[in-house]
Amino acid sequence: MTELEELLNKARQLAEARNHKLVPFIRRGRSTGTRCVTCGRQVYVMPDAGVIGAAIGGDAIAEACIRKPIASVEGKASKSKLG
Ligand SMILES: [Zn+2]
Repeated sequence: MTELEELLNKARQLAEARNHKLVPFIRRGRSTGTRCVTCGRQVYVMPDAGVIGAAIGGDAIAEACIRKPIASVEGKASKSKLG
């Protein structure tokens, strides 16, 4: 596992611990990032962030996921027993 993969795993874990549901990471230049399908908050990883070294950042690791009312399509129907 590369250093970047470890950072991506850590970033994902941090975000998922806050209930975010992430799309696959996409590399953009020096940073690799993703966002939450539910609330749109972002997570990014910069493996070469300069003097501070590798960095993980983004709203999704700082704040918990908040479901937008308009986006809540999935029904959390009660899976109760059949008749
Ligand atoms: Zn979210």
